[in-house]
Amino acid sequence: MRVRRKPKNKYNARKIEFQGVTFDSQAEYEYYLILKNDKSVQDIELQPEYQIIKPYKVKCGRCDGRGKVLNTKTLNLNKCTLCKGYGTRTKSGAKFTADFKVTYIDGEIKVIDVKGGPTSKDFTLRKKLFEIKTGHELVIAKKTGKGWEVN
Ligand SMILES: [Zn+2]
Repeated sequence: MRVRRKPKNKYNARKIEFQGVTFDSQAEYEYYLILKNDKSVQDIELQPEYQIIKPYKVKCGRCDGRGKVLNTKTLNLNKCTLCKGYGTRTKSGAKFTADFKVTYIDGEIKVIDVKGGPTSKDFTLRKKLFEIKTGHELVIAKKTGKGWEVN
């Protein structure tokens, strides 16, 4: 079985390391072990990244897309410094990073996110954007008192 990983950020204090693979949480680590011991799993990719929003352009908010700003004292039209006179500004997109992308021996692919606790509103929106963008349902593996709930 192949295991691929990306370097994680340095700021998470409660990381868990196992066989050279670093996990953000105990729940993520435990689910990884389940996947690793699953004989139907062929490949596990850790922290797969998906661009859920592409970089986009908007009309500049300072000059309303005109590229020029009125100086109220001199009444001169000056080049807008915010958009450098272009009238538009490019905004960065957004990425969604899941916990695992799992490929099964029959070719089935599942993108899985592990949740140890309640999820934020931000997560719900990111999940929707991931699903719209990829057409794949994001599988949520949730650790409960009774074990794992996978939906
Ligand atoms: Zn502008």
